Amino acid sequence: MALELGIDLGTSNTLICIKGEIVLNEPSVVAINENDGSVAAAGTEAKEMLGRTHKNLCAVCPIKEGVIANFDTTISMLKAFIKKTTKNSFFRPRIVISIPACVTEVEKRAVREAGLAAGAKEVYLIEEPMAAAIGSGIEVNRPVGSMIVDIGGGLTEIAVISLGGIVVSDFVKVAGNSFDEDIIQYMKRKYNLSLGAITAEAVKVEIGSACPMKDEISMEVHGRDSVTGLPRNVKIDSSEVREALSESLEMIIDGIKSVLEKTPPELAADIYETGIVLSGGGATLRGLGKLINKNIDIPVYIAEEPMQCVALGTGRAAEDIKSMKNIFIGE
Ligand code: ADP
Ligand code: MG
Repeated sequence: MALELGIDLGTSNTLICIKGEIVLNEPSVVAINENDGSVAAAGTEAKEMLGRTHKNLCAVCPIKEGVIANFDTTISMLKAFIKKTTKNSFFRPRIVISIPACVTEVEKRAVREAGLAAGAKEVYLIEEPMAAAIGSGIEVNRPVGSMIVDIGGGLTEIAVISLGGIVVSDFVKVAGNSFDEDIIQYMKRKYNLSLGAITAEAVKVEIGSACPMKDEISMEVHGRDSVTGLPRNVKIDSSEVREALSESLEMIIDGIKSVLEKTPPELAADIYETGIVLSGGGATLRGLGKLINKNIDIPVYIAEEPMQCVALGTGRAAEDIKSMKNIFIGE
């Protein structure tokens, strides 16, 4: 039996979808044995090794800002993930992989080749915003404009879709990872406290918000005093985290505005009616929809499964490769 996989090869997470089901959802991290180049771990297990490896082991995130930064380790990671999900299959799968809408021909070719090297029989490419739109339930083939904003780890992609194609799109290199970095800088400036990336991400997820909250929340943060070098705890609240994120959030809003300005009037009118759909892990930041709505005055909706939209969209496309032909990116 032939096997079709949809793969969301994200900066932070890789998801694989088979027949409408997410069968793999793991961090885009792989650990390699330096001695023989073999894979020591991939996904969750490899993420735990980040920053904790010894000289014969190296844990890397092979995808940066949505594109392949390290070709060989991407192949190793993809191979490991595909093997996990298709262990009983004798056949080589056909795969649909999503890529950012802004990538170059060289970057596209790299993804195609990585897919083939990882064992696929055929590789089809789909633009991430298109996959996110399909996965969030937007009927992309209708003659109606829809706007999707996918806020991932390394990249925010903004696109207007109509009649099965992307009409206008743009990106900002500000997304989930920038929020973490903002928190690290803020804590250093205000409290002389150095935080690790994992802690900063936890602060964002636990008490991060884009809009003032009725009851602001707080948490104790563990870091290292950058003057004494010793461990220290500081209690911070959600309004401080919001202050830390404010510039990055403004850049995302400016990106959305600039795409709206470039959108043909008929489609812009549609978007005022249908609203903006947010997807990606960044879309789960508290109050982000409200902040965008306050600044742009268009209804904003968060996709039902924001972190799965792209994968579900690639899976849908993979199930129906023939009739989706117009949606895939050519050679
Ligand atoms: P990518 O497609 O680039 O792999 P994802 O769509 O998987 O990215 O989103 C990953 C980003 O979402 C990370 O920066 C992560 O910290 C962030 N994220 C996950 N959950 C939350 C949350 N509850 N609040 C804010 N950010 C979150
Ligand atoms: Mg993504």
